[in-house]
Amino acid sequence: MSATVYVGLGSNEGDREAQLVAALYAMSRIDAVAVLACSSLFDSAPVGPEQPRFLNAVVALECGVAPQRLLCILQQIEEDLGRRRGGPRWSPRPIDLDILLWDEQVVADPNLQVPHLELHKRRFALEPLAQLAPEVKHPVLGMSVKELLGKLAPQDVHKREARWWPDASTARLPVNDS
Ligand code: ATP
Ligand code: CA
Ligand code: CA
Repeated sequence: MSATVYVGLGSNEGDREAQLVAALYAMSRIDAVAVLACSSLFDSAPVGPEQPRFLNAVVALECGVAPQRLLCILQQIEEDLGRRRGGPRWSPRPIDLDILLWDEQVVADPNLQVPHLELHKRRFALEPLAQLAPEVKHPVLGMSVKELLGKLAPQDVHKREARWWPDASTARLPVNDS
């Protein structure tokens, strides 16, 4: 019963890229979960109150655990990386891990809504997600990731070169000169 799951990563406190890499490493070590692919990194303006800019990415996971279990594991990873709960909403954080899509399933639990309720409004989530899953459909809105992105007004979200993050878009295929 494994599913393809897309997780959005964000950091706007401390060494942002190091924290995304640490979260990726932690996710790669979850039992019954495998990392399938990583998007590029995107630098983005915060939504809501004034705070430092974010670094964002999306990863695709092959996931053999239930949605509630994955949420619990992701919250533990956030805590291990120094995230403290109970502060004001949208305050700066070393790491934020949101479940964006779970195949084309809908989860509507009190503590977990998938697709993520804000996904379709957020270029910092849709832009990296579209690199990995442009044709996947949002099961509530009935539109593909690419279509949702196409409807979005411009937002301050810019691709950024990676230092350590395994950025697939910077991989170079051998050039055949002959
Ligand atoms: P936003 O949800 O707008 O991106 P946030 O990520 O800052 O805000 P958090 O404080 O990280 O919000 O999480 C608040 C709660 O959101 C969590 O305790 C969790 O139960 C709930 N939640 C609901 N749906 C999801 C989801 N798809 N992924 C992660 N958390 C979720
Ligand atoms: Ca979030
Ligand atoms: Ca969150």
